[in-house]
Amino acid sequence: MPHVITQSCCNDGSCVYACPVNCIHPTPDEPGFAASEMLYIDPVACVDCGACVSACPVGAIVPDNRLEARQLPFVEINASFYPKRPAGEKLPPTSKLAPVIPAAEVRARRRPLTVAIVGSGPAAMYAADELLTQPGVRVNVFEKLPTPYGLVRAGVAPDHQSTKQVTKLFDRVAGHRHFRFYLNVEVGEHLSHADLSAHHHAVLYAVGAPEDRRLDIDGMGLAGTGTATQVVAWINGHPDFAGLAVDLSHERVVIIGNGNVALDVARVLTADPDDLARTDVSDRALDAFRRSAVREVVIAARRGPAHSAFTLPELIGLTGCSEVVLDAGNHELVARDLVTASDSLTRTKLEILSKLGDGSAPPPAAGRPRIRLAYQLTPERVLGEHRATGVEFSVTGTRELRRLDAGLVLTSIGYRGKMIRDLPFDESAGAVPNEDGRVVDPGSGRPMPGTYVAGWIKRGPTGFIGTNKSCSFQTVQALVADFNAGELAAPVARPEALEELVRARRPDVVGSAGWRAIDSAEVARGRRDGRPRNKFTEVADMLAAASTAPPPRRQKLLDRLLDRG
Ligand code: NAP
Repeated sequence: MPHVITQSCCNDGSCVYACPVNCIHPTPDEPGFAASEMLYIDPVACVDCGACVSACPVGAIVPDNRLEARQLPFVEINASFYPKRPAGEKLPPTSKLAPVIPAAEVRARRRPLTVAIVGSGPAAMYAADELLTQPGVRVNVFEKLPTPYGLVRAGVAPDHQSTKQVTKLFDRVAGHRHFRFYLNVEVGEHLSHADLSAHHHAVLYAVGAPEDRRLDIDGMGLAGTGTATQVVAWINGHPDFAGLAVDLSHERVVIIGNGNVALDVARVLTADPDDLARTDVSDRALDAFRRSAVREVVIAARRGPAHSAFTLPELIGLTGCSEVVLDAGNHELVARDLVTASDSLTRTKLEILSKLGDGSAPPPAAGRPRIRLAYQLTPERVLGEHRATGVEFSVTGTRELRRLDAGLVLTSIGYRGKMIRDLPFDESAGAVPNEDGRVVDPGSGRPMPGTYVAGWIKRGPTGFIGTNKSCSFQTVQALVADFNAGELAAPVARPEALEELVRARRPDVVGSAGWRAIDSAEVARGRRDGRPRNKFTEVADMLAAASTAPPPRRQKLLDRLLDRG
């Protein structure tokens, strides 16, 4: 009875290291890891010990006799990753690398390695986790919002609560006695790179890719147009987007691009609001869903089915919970691609697509709205004078034009990194130039001393939450190697001076205790309605909740007690 990894796999890789028989692949040090859509358990080598179940931060591993019907396709998907072999064949052990600060180094330096991390999403928290495995290291995390965890809080769809469970791991990291949160503090606004450098050996930017890639066609910008990532932030109650005007009074929404973000938005827009009411969806979005007139969400891709950007686990998840049909004539495209598809992942995607219903008839007037997947449609312009009334596409590679009426047109064509003050930026990649996480000055081709990047701002907006673990690990290895080589200048300021500086520049700074107070208040608000939490969507409300935390003196005392313990 082997264990099986299911659709909510986050590629974190913790299970790989927990497994005593090395039966989970690809491992972070294997070449296929970065491009893999999920991890796979080898059913022949699995000894059914369950060690991976407790290591998985998102509860994605299940013994095969406990799978729900919708998870059954994953038995075959896990197995098909491995070549057929005799039962019980042994595999070589997985290496467990860890950056090590030699004890002599620690004793020789009066100031322990102290690192500022900018941003508090998965890449930041995995970097902090890795750094804090080293003796004596101090980590200070700076975040512009009063709440941490970046896209896990504001980007993961609310109906994917198991994925959000990774915050429990992050809470544990944040509870380390050498970890400090400086929330509600914007680097570039309240503190500069030079300020951080003066107080730390190294500054590690893990700020993600906060902007959307924009589609440059006529009509984008009209009322009724927007981006899927803005809508995701609105659904999740991000304070900058909580008041977004999302008009759901029309029958059709068109989403341009077919990556996982497009699937997330389509799934939520067509979900039963009563199901969403049991999640941490924002109240305002939930209210809009209850009043929605949407009957169909069309996801339009410019290429053919074999080039779908969504991943197989997410397609299985979508077809298991939503009514999904294929655009008229698209079954022929799928059949054509099935003849030429060479890799098994694409074949499985195409087989699932081939079994979808035909979407030529209009959607039914009652019941749940449906999702229509459409291919070979290149967006040409948004129709409408004062507001969007539809989209005109060309059939890709031809001059044939096709119009789709819609009251809401969303682009979902990827995220983009934003320039960080005082750091170089590669406009074409939308990321900071770096080598293994060391920021590189393109002028001299040399690393900028003590400056590092991790996550999407380092490698571009690709991969899953857990992909950031190996990405951050690589950066931390480089950082620790530089520290051990004596290349990082010690902070010039006294340790207590940082706290004073931050409080002077940003009296409303929220620390770990403040975040715990916000967290408890949100969970308590949610509990009343059977929800995991009911988020504050206004910064003022977050700050009011944070202010109920124990005063800093009591907190300091608690910290000192912890330090002794
Ligand atoms: P994405 O996967 O990069 O997909 C972008 C889509 O936009 C593609 O279909 C692409 O088509 C299309 N596109 C790009 N430029 C276009 C243009 N000018 N006109 C029309 N279409 C265009 O982006 P994403 O959905 O934002 O996802 C970002 C990352 O987050 C991905 O790695 C994704 O897997 C991850 N993510 C994961 C989850 C999850 O695991 N549940 C959820 C959300 C996001 P072409 O292929 O033709 O360029």
